[in-house]
Amino acid sequence: MLTKAREALQKYFGYQDFRGGQEKVIESLLNRQDTLAIMPTGAGKSVAYQIPALLFEGITLVISPLISLMKDQVDNLQQSGVPGTFINSSLSKKDTWARIQKVQKGEYKLLYLAPERLESEEFLEMLKSLPIGFVAVDEAHCVSQWGHDFRPSYLRINNFLQLLPERPLVGAFTATATEEVKEDINRRLGLRKARVFVTGFDRPNLNFTVLRGENKKSFILDYLKNVAQYSGIIYAATRKEVDKVYDLLMDKGFKAGRYHAGMADLERKESQEKFIYDEVSVMVATNAFGMGIDKSNVRFVIHYNMPKNMESYYQEAGRAGRDGEPAECILLFGPQDVQIQKLLIEQSVSSPQRQTNEYKKLQAMVDYCHASRCLRKTILEYFGEDGVADWCGNCSNCEKQKESVDVTVDAQKILSCVYRLQGRFGMSMVAEILKGSLNKKIVELKFDRLSTHGIMKEMPLQEIKDRINFLAAEGYLQISTGQYPVVKLTAKAVPVLKGQENVYQIQLIRKEVSISDAERIFERLRALRRQIAQQEGLPPYMIFQDSTLKEMAKNCPQDLKALLKINGVGEKKLEKYGELFLEEIRKGAASE
Ligand code: ADP
Ligand code: ZN
Repeated sequence: MLTKAREALQKYFGYQDFRGGQEKVIESLLNRQDTLAIMPTGAGKSVAYQIPALLFEGITLVISPLISLMKDQVDNLQQSGVPGTFINSSLSKKDTWARIQKVQKGEYKLLYLAPERLESEEFLEMLKSLPIGFVAVDEAHCVSQWGHDFRPSYLRINNFLQLLPERPLVGAFTATATEEVKEDINRRLGLRKARVFVTGFDRPNLNFTVLRGENKKSFILDYLKNVAQYSGIIYAATRKEVDKVYDLLMDKGFKAGRYHAGMADLERKESQEKFIYDEVSVMVATNAFGMGIDKSNVRFVIHYNMPKNMESYYQEAGRAGRDGEPAECILLFGPQDVQIQKLLIEQSVSSPQRQTNEYKKLQAMVDYCHASRCLRKTILEYFGEDGVADWCGNCSNCEKQKESVDVTVDAQKILSCVYRLQGRFGMSMVAEILKGSLNKKIVELKFDRLSTHGIMKEMPLQEIKDRINFLAAEGYLQISTGQYPVVKLTAKAVPVLKGQENVYQIQLIRKEVSISDAERIFERLRALRRQIAQQEGLPPYMIFQDSTLKEMAKNCPQDLKALLKINGVGEKKLEKYGELFLEEIRKGAASE
């Protein structure tokens, strides 16, 4: 069976081999065992259910939460010659019926549905009459309130499975790995003795960088100068921040789009399409953007603000480099980011238990921003991986020239100020006192008489706060969670205060960020691709992905047979586009 699976992988998708994790998941499904696959964004979940769907008799239902994602996936499938379709609320009644009829005639191997469809009795009756052998639940964490996108209609899936004349095989797919979510998926989807596979969360082609205390605006402008022709996403925490960054970019003449929940539906949709079709290269967005995007040639993801937790961060950053080509993920950390996220938690989470949970997750995110060890290791350990190497060589903490600076004296000043406040005040108060502020509260509380008042007055307030954050990330201070977080000393602070131990901070020297010049042939192929995409009304990456074009440019295949060996060239695409690309490769090589 697995040989057949590999054949299908080559024939339809043009890939030579499975990626880590896919093979085991597919094998388990082919053995008709319920399967829960936890794979990071970009690891290739879709192939893991599409291949079994192609090999099984009858039809496979794919339950997917987002309409835009559905259309994308189905377009992609059709490009590869896989008979798939979708039914959702974007279709008219007439089109829906036409599709249902084709489905009933057995013309499709895959049918994508939004979970809300399962609420219609009429539709359920229709489904009951189909030979459904396999149900794949995409973004399965939507069934859990602990996940980040709870979707009540996912709760109907289990019931639906039992309504079918014969309970089908079920595969659940998600990128969320926490225990609560795993348990919920198992129970609420009614999986039967499911085999669980957690694919390595590493995405080796992604480069991770954290920059603290950077002037964010000038960084962005600087960075974009080098990469403006590539696709990238800039995530900001709030609509206001998105508008600010967007205006800045427009002002400076960049081709940018924007996306947030405050915009009209139509405007949002247009903006998204322009990005997908490579008409604008940079998208400035809140986290509302991206769930429905499979765009594979995103070369950078910048977080203008720190996101609320590591799950969101890795999911958003993971939208870079799905094609496996090098891509950059840069997080710009500012101390006020923590406050923004706390506010958002207060506003959006009401249950105290869940609030505590969210604050805990937020702290892990803050710790990441201040980590001095390998960022990749920090991420992977957060997601529960063991035995991760200490050094990856592809993150800002591994590759940058580092300077270890003795910051003991500043640390002592901060720690002794915190000591005097006896854990009753927050970080801002500590920083204000050290700065020597004479604001009303400080005078009222007589803090201007403390010996630590004003002992760091020469340092900008922001930097003092950065240092406090650094001491917290390194475990000398503890910042409590909750609405009014207070700062306390930890046991680790004592020897520093007593002058028995020193504190060192690894300071990052900002790397010159540059993405290597794409080869000339690659640029030609890209132009050809854009032209074809326009003719066919498809996003360019659905013609071929960047990685495929790069491989073509590197290997310069001379005939169809050689072209078929390129990763990402399947039989259907070879037939459709093979000659055109061969000719462009020839022309490109001749003009060298
Ligand atoms: P996910 O849903 O896990 O985020 P996708 O299924 O969208 O990821 O796959 C991510 C990208 O990887 C897609 O562009 C897909 O075509 C590509 N891909 C999937 N499987 C393979 C493979 N075996 N070899 C090469 N590329 C693959
Ligand atoms: Zn590293």
